[in-house]
Parts: sequence; C-alpha cells; structure tokens
Amino acid sequence: MHDLLTAAEYTAIAKSMSYPSSAFIDGAFRPAQSGKTFKTTNPATGEVLTEIAACDSADVDFAVAKAKGAFEDGRWHLRSPGERKEVLLKFARLLERNRHELAVLESLDSGKPIREVQTIDVPDTIHTIRWHAELIDKIYDNTAPVGSNALTLVVREPIGVVGLVLPWNFPLLMLAWKIGPALAAGCSVVVKPAQETTLTALKVAELAHEAGVPAGVFNVVTGSGKDVGEPLGMHMDVSMVSFTGSTATGRRFLRYAADSNLKRVVLECGGKNPAVVMNDVEDLDLVAEQVVNGAFWNMGENCSATSRLIVHAEVKDELLKRIGAYMREWRMGDPLNPKNRIGSLVSKAHFEKVKSYLETVEAEKLSLLFGGDTREGNFVEPTVVDGVGRDSRLFQEEIFGPVLSVTTFNSLSEAITLANDTVYGLTASVYTGSLRNAIKLSREIRAGVVTVNCFGEGDATTPFGGYKESGFGGRDKSIWAHDQYTELKTIWIDVSDRSVDETVR
Ligand code: NAP
Ligand code: MG
Repeated sequence: MHDLLTAAEYTAIAKSMSYPSSAFIDGAFRPAQSGKTFKTTNPATGEVLTEIAACDSADVDFAVAKAKGAFEDGRWHLRSPGERKEVLLKFARLLERNRHELAVLESLDSGKPIREVQTIDVPDTIHTIRWHAELIDKIYDNTAPVGSNALTLVVREPIGVVGLVLPWNFPLLMLAWKIGPALAAGCSVVVKPAQETTLTALKVAELAHEAGVPAGVFNVVTGSGKDVGEPLGMHMDVSMVSFTGSTATGRRFLRYAADSNLKRVVLECGGKNPAVVMNDVEDLDLVAEQVVNGAFWNMGENCSATSRLIVHAEVKDELLKRIGAYMREWRMGDPLNPKNRIGSLVSKAHFEKVKSYLETVEAEKLSLLFGGDTREGNFVEPTVVDGVGRDSRLFQEEIFGPVLSVTTFNSLSEAITLANDTVYGLTASVYTGSLRNAIKLSREIRAGVVTVNCFGEGDATTPFGGYKESGFGGRDKSIWAHDQYTELKTIWIDVSDRSVDETVR
C-alpha cells in the first residue's frame, strides 16, 4: 500500500539528503536579512538537522512586497484558468515524484512515524493540490435576478496577498489545505511554517516554483511566531490570514486584524473531541479499533483526535477490554521504521506538557487503565485513564498527546450534555446501531464534523473546521475553502432603454 519502503531504505534516504535552510522569497532561497539562524532538531534523537534562516519583520515586509507585486501585475491570477490548472497539476506530479524524500524530511523534523506520513500525510497532500487544481476551470460565477433593465454579475475575485500560519502537527497536510485553495483562487501567499517543522514547506515551495508557479506567488518566511507571525498578522498589505494552531494564538490574529487593516481571518484551533458510544452498538470490535485510531494516530498530536471516550455504562467494560487488545498493535519506536505506529512527540517542551497531564492522573486520583510511561527521545506510551469527571483537566483541556480519558453515562441526554461540555467544538464521533440515535447525536453535538460509526475528518470534498472556540471565520478543504480566498464583487450594468437612447444621442 502506498509503496512503503523498508527501514533501511528510509535510513539511506535520510543519510544522503540535503536540508533546505533559507527562506524562499520571490522564487529564490534567501538567508534572513539579519543573518540570524535557528536550529531545527530531530526530536527522536536530539540531533540538530540544520540551521534555518531566523527571519523577522524586515523579511516579512520584503516577502509581502514581492507577493503584492506579483498579485498586482497579474502574473498568476490573470493567466487563464486552464493554464493555472496545468501548472498546479504539474506541481502535484513533482510532489509525487519526491514523495519518499518529503516523507523522510517530515518524519525526521517532527518525530511522526514514517508509516503514517507515507501512507496518509503525503498522499493526502498531493490529492489536495490536485483536487483544487481540477476545480479551477469548473467554477462558474452568477448573475442576479434584477430584471431586463440591467445585467448584474456576481463574481469572485482572488482576495490578494494571503498569510498562511501553520502548526507543527501536520506540516505538509496543513500547508496543502491552505495553499491548494489559495493558489487555485489566484492569490499570492506568504507561508509561515511552525519553527519546529519548517523543512517540508521549503521543499514544497521549491517544487511549486519548478512546476511554474511564478516568482513572488508562493513565499515561505521562516522564523518564530513573534518575529514572523505577528508582523504578518499586522501587515497592512496582507488581505487575509488563514491560521491553524492553538486557540490562544488564534485570538491574537483577531487582535492583529482589528489593530491593522481588518484583514479577513480564518482560524482552525484546538479540540477536545468526544467519541460517544451507545449501548446499542452492533460491533464493539469496530468501535474499539476506530477509537484507538482516533486517539493515538499521530501520537494524539491532532486537533481532531478522539480525546474523550464517553461510553454507556452497559458496554464500557467490554469495550475497554477490546481497546486494550487493539492498543497492543500500536508499536512505539524509531519513527523511520515503518513497523512503528507511535513516534516521538514534536519537542522536549511539548513532551513536558503532555507529561504534566500524566501526573494529573495521580493528583486527581484517577484510574490508569493502560500506558502512562514515557521514554527517552520524547516518547509517550498510549494511555487510557478511567473515571474522568467533567471538572477534570483531562476532560476539559486539549492535551495534544496520546491520552484518552473515559467518562461513563446512562442516558442519551446525559451523553449529549457531556459531549458538549467543553469550550471546543471541532469534531465528534458517535457509535450506535440506531438511525434515530445517530441522527439525534449528529444534530445535537455542536461540532464542525460529526462522524457516525467511524473516526475521520471527511475527505477533500468536505469542509473541515470548528464550532465554538475551535474555529472562526471559515473552513479548510472543499469548495467552501476555495471561496474564502476570494472577494465577492457585484457588477451592475445598466441596459435600460434610457441608457441605450442616451448612448445613441
Ligand atoms: P501555536 O503557538 O498556536 O503555533 C501555531 C503557529 O502560530 C506557529 O507557526 C507559531 O509559530 C505561530 N505563532 C506563535 N505565537 C505567535 C504570535 N504571538 N503571533 C503570531 N504567530 C504566532 O501552537 P504551538 O505552540 O505549536 O502549540 C501549542 C498548542 O497548540 C499545542 O500544545 C496544541 O494544544 C495546540 N495546537 C493545535 C493545533 C491544531 O491543529 N489545532 C496544531 C498545533 C498545536 P512558532 O511556533 O514557530 O513560534
Ligand atoms: Mg524539528
């Protein structure tokens, strides 16, 4: 499946690879104007991979000026839809050709298991670019029903220069979710990857350029949130920011917009996603498999991770037994070995944060069912904790690690109350054999994505984003994502007899 290589082959690629280390602005790799750099490490080994340009507001100004110039002269958005589609399809083919190298770069930089990167992140990234490319010459504008005295066109135009601020948990895929629709819509982009995981964004920008995306249209400015993210958020020539990351940083972008040019802001933030399991489920094995996947995929470093199991008292013991059995299939170890499904957490700092939640188990006298240990190299065992009440930190706070909390209910209404009882509303999954229960739960859980009898985020055709403090202003993926990188324009053309007469006279 998806041509996985062996551990030895991946290690050979890693040894022979060179790392990008400069920002990519106006079609070329460039050091920071200050000459400063920061180190990027492999969290599983502590090894420094390379030093990367530590950009600041001067570099942001330069990149935005180049992006604005490229937008204003129309070198991208004024090309025909068919031509832009061909360029992005070529870009997708180049990503495909470089898929093994991209997977290794991503795994080394983030600690993500190569097995998941190669079979999910990389193919989904390529599919996302292709899907948005294919959309370019299939979207129609509208006319409005204004009668015979006028012709009114309602058209979409690219919004302009867009800042894309990314998290470290799915560096390639979050990049694709944003550049796919932004480039398809005709925007110029300035990407700010997370400092922890910068390498693949640089490689992708280089490949886009090679495919024919013109200079200035796709820029990557590397550096910290403070030095690059904030100047981008505050920039007067940036028309929109699309952000994925923590709710706390997301709030800042709303303030930046208010304090600068009222740029459009789209936020994809945290989640505390429930899996609700009713006592009428038909196949507890399927539920166990899906819950384990939802909770531990990408080490739980996933905004849509299943982090709360809300289970009916009658099926709880049997389900937990089967969850324990499925967890044994999730081997932990060297991220570059495709046999392993649990890699290392992204950084020492994040590892310490997740560890502090493991300490809560004892402090709150909760019951540790599985896991709970940590290992050198920022590894955390998949962990399941029972008896978690609504007031517990484990119930309320986003952990972003492989920790599943278990809470029991006895009635449908209690399950809905529990599912909705956090500030978040990103995703939820519900498991039931009853159509009536499935519909009631899907309608009453306040989340942007609800899956029934499975864990997932939909596919490229479905919007992704959150209710409540999980999101703001829009969605990633699908045609709705495309639309949000555009402005809506009304063109009113007077064709009344009066105007014709006046022209003739
Ligand atoms: P974060 O601080 O929100 O980082 C997301 C992006 O925003 C990064 O590129 C970051 O840059 C940038 N940023 C940070 N501070 C900024 C500022 N003051 N102004 C402008 N941009 C800024 O998230 P994190 O520190 O990586 O992780 C913190 C928590 O966020 C995690 O533990 C997790 O709970 C959550 N998280 C959620 C998602 C998600 O997909 N929903 C993804 C990642 C993290 P630098 O990091 O390079 O400085
Ligand atoms: Mg790194």
